[in-house]
Amino acid sequence: MKNQNGQYDLVVVGSGLAGTVAACQAANLGCSVVLLDASSDPSSGGNTALSGGTLHIAHLRMDEPAETLRRRVTEVAGEFAQRDLVDALVANCARGIEWLIEQGVDIEPPTEEEGGRTVLAPVREFHDVNAWPGRGPQVALQVLQKRVRALGGQVISEARASEVIQRPDGSVAGVVLATGRTIDAAAVLLCDGGFQANPDLRREFIGPAADKLFLRGAPSGIGDGLRMGSSAGGQLINMQWFYGHCLHRGALTSDRLWPQPTVDDLLASSVLVNSEGLRITDEGLGGIAAANAVGRSSDPRGASIVLSEAAWDAALSREGGRRPTANPELERRGGVVHRAESAEDLAAKAGINAAGLQRTLDEFITAAGADKLGALAIPRSGRPAAIGGRLLGIPIVPGITFTVGGLRTDGSARVLNSNEAPIPGLYAAGGTAGGLQGGPRGGYVGGLAVALVFGLLAGESVAASRPAQHAEKP
Ligand SMILES: Cc1cc2nc3c(=O)[nH]c(=O)nc-3n(C[C@H](O)[C@H](O)[C@H](O)COP(=O)(O)OP(=O)(O)OC[C@H]3O[C@@H](n4cnc5c(N)ncnc54)[C@H](O)[C@@H]3O)c2cc1C
Repeated sequence: MKNQNGQYDLVVVGSGLAGTVAACQAANLGCSVVLLDASSDPSSGGNTALSGGTLHIAHLRMDEPAETLRRRVTEVAGEFAQRDLVDALVANCARGIEWLIEQGVDIEPPTEEEGGRTVLAPVREFHDVNAWPGRGPQVALQVLQKRVRALGGQVISEARASEVIQRPDGSVAGVVLATGRTIDAAAVLLCDGGFQANPDLRREFIGPAADKLFLRGAPSGIGDGLRMGSSAGGQLINMQWFYGHCLHRGALTSDRLWPQPTVDDLLASSVLVNSEGLRITDEGLGGIAAANAVGRSSDPRGASIVLSEAAWDAALSREGGRRPTANPELERRGGVVHRAESAEDLAAKAGINAAGLQRTLDEFITAAGADKLGALAIPRSGRPAAIGGRLLGIPIVPGITFTVGGLRTDGSARVLNSNEAPIPGLYAAGGTAGGLQGGPRGGYVGGLAVALVFGLLAGESVAASRPAQHAEKP
């Protein structure tokens, strides 16, 4: 049902978790809502359906005290996390979980493996990339979308939005679909999930060869929201960073090698080198930071990790967890792991420059022995295991899951222009919005939790602004 001005109150572009939560909450609060999705099934178009369904703030439980969460976000994202967004996130994340439950979304009982974090039920296992249908994240979307329909909202599939309609004063008035159809609405929320699936945009914003990254997610995030929002005057922020993991390079040709196992845990005891045998980054910063560093390099498909056989053996993990681990699953799934008695031999097997690798390992071992890893040309943080004895080399590729940069929004999910002023009626959330995550330490604050909280705030903000918008009309 349209409002008294012949418009919908809200049109949402993208029915992942961010868009669906916003549509549901706006409908709960009495708004007329249209939820669009480009895919043929609005519960399975994007990253949400593929995800593991764990809700967390930088890996912590969402019901941790606000101060603990704030400190943790600052630790991982530093100055890349805008204060107003951090405040909004920590103030609303516990409420977000309660809200999901109130809407009828099912969550798993807490487990030790998940450290008590909230997981959407039924749990999605990571042993098979295709094992997502009917699991928690998709079911949550189905439950919430059913509620949108029950409250009189429309959920429309195969509806790809292509443009935001703006009035001469800059305020938004709806969207145009790729078919040419227009939908008039007082507010537009952009939630297309990011631009990770667009190789040209990756090259433009992330690095000169970032088109070579492996897409560790759904093919739907091609940057429509970014393009629509920036054409409408939206400011872009933190564009060069992404959330992802280092994977075995075999993921480029085998679905058995993604989304797990990652090689992230091995990095703590590895040296990460390019095909010249030169180190690329501080391996101690972890897998997300390493994926970003390799992703920005000139040859994202040419990197390898080198570690001692003793460290590999120490990483052998117990079976039965939700996530397959590198040792033993990489080799079981067909991932090649090179083994050699010397750096020279390993270099020949792994396609690395032998002289470069030898020099890098010599420097690394000497610095480690003198406790001076911090003085290396690329300082190494942490206390890595010794490199020596029989060596292993694992070819890797950075997997990009979603881009964390995007349209700068405020704590109510309103899109800001270059003067930091909200563009009237324009909102963004989830993977389309930026300003909360990113930076050289990896900067991963969250995926589902961020989509949930800012989806909720967007829906509430649209509902709260309705009377003012109506009053503006003649
Ligand atoms: C394998 C994997 C595991 C993950 N595990 C976790 C996890 O356990 N915990 C966590 O917090 N995060 C996880 N994530 C990340 C998380 O899934 C995302 O951050 C989150 O789902 C993003 O939600 P979203 O609504 O922004 O985007 P999406 O879920 O990607 O939804 C975007 C939607 O927009 C639609 N769309 C795109 N363009 C248009 C257009 N022009 N018009 C209309 N519709 C359009 C798409 O079809 C899609 O349905 C995981 C991701 C992956 C891939």
